[in-house]
Amino acid sequence: MSKYTLGNDDVIVFDSGGTQLRIYVMNLLSGKLKKIAREEMKNFPNDYKLSDFVLKNVDNGRVGICAAGVFHPDYTISAPNVRFKEPVTFPKKLHELGCEVKIGNDVECAAYFEGRLGVASDVPRSATVTFSSGCGVQLFDRRFGVLTRAEFGHLPYVLVDGIKCGDGEYGHIESYVSGNGARAIAIQDLLMREDAKNPIVLASLKDYNKAARKEGLPTFKTKDLDNAMVYKMVVSQIQPKHVYSVEDNDVSERVMDLQSRAIGTCLSEINGVYAPLDKIVVMGSLATQNWDTLMVQAIGEYQQKHHQHPNLPLAEIVKSVDPLNGCKGAGAMYKA
Ligand SMILES: [Zn+2]
Repeated sequence: MSKYTLGNDDVIVFDSGGTQLRIYVMNLLSGKLKKIAREEMKNFPNDYKLSDFVLKNVDNGRVGICAAGVFHPDYTISAPNVRFKEPVTFPKKLHELGCEVKIGNDVECAAYFEGRLGVASDVPRSATVTFSSGCGVQLFDRRFGVLTRAEFGHLPYVLVDGIKCGDGEYGHIESYVSGNGARAIAIQDLLMREDAKNPIVLASLKDYNKAARKEGLPTFKTKDLDNAMVYKMVVSQIQPKHVYSVEDNDVSERVMDLQSRAIGTCLSEINGVYAPLDKIVVMGSLATQNWDTLMVQAIGEYQQKHHQHPNLPLAEIVKSVDPLNGCKGAGAMYKA
């Protein structure tokens, strides 16, 4: 017997794409979530334990699942964020119990949320794009729902050479518009110049020492950065947050400039490829946390590029404001 009572406008929502599994009841009219259960993904040693946990909490109703990985037609998922190799089968088991089951990835779910309940719910056609560790885009149409499952980040941006992408190819959009891209550009720059006093290097050293102390490993002082081995090691540990957190720094400025141009181009491509669009909703930590610096400049680039395509309507760029849009979007798949 389940632990909750479902009203006509309630659906069960799973947020299972990250380090935690969270289960909620979502009200489709208010968009509000009520927590049913939560567990760390790492605490499930196999699929049996995961299914067991789910089925103890959920046994009926309409189910929306926000997940990561490859979704199969039999409602199983090959998930990258579990400890075991076998497919995740709880959606299949819920389906066999008679639950209606819908599965989407984080951007797909977010596009449903933004289009039906969020910042694009006032317009018929929108695209939701994420700029964080990667770059994904989903097109939403009020009549048909989400229409695409494009890997936008892996389209070519720089045609000859360019930065290496996570998939082994060179010059893909994702490498220029993501946090990983910011990191790669800064690392390359600082390895070429050996600037031991650069604040990005110092920020990386500080975090390295913090982690090293925890692990009982040797720590380094600022003057140790004069040693080429130490310098290279610390530079290789640079994270996107180090690049964005320093001010008046030429490396950061170069990264910001390169990224705002790339994001501007990306927005312009989205506007062209999916035209006509009313709004482009921007989500992801890279963009939302650096809105006044990176995004304002990128939107300027986007508007300027538009003069090359004056016949296309220019979609308004809006910032996603609900951090739970992925999770709530798993429920919004059921909203009419
Ligand atoms: Zn790629």
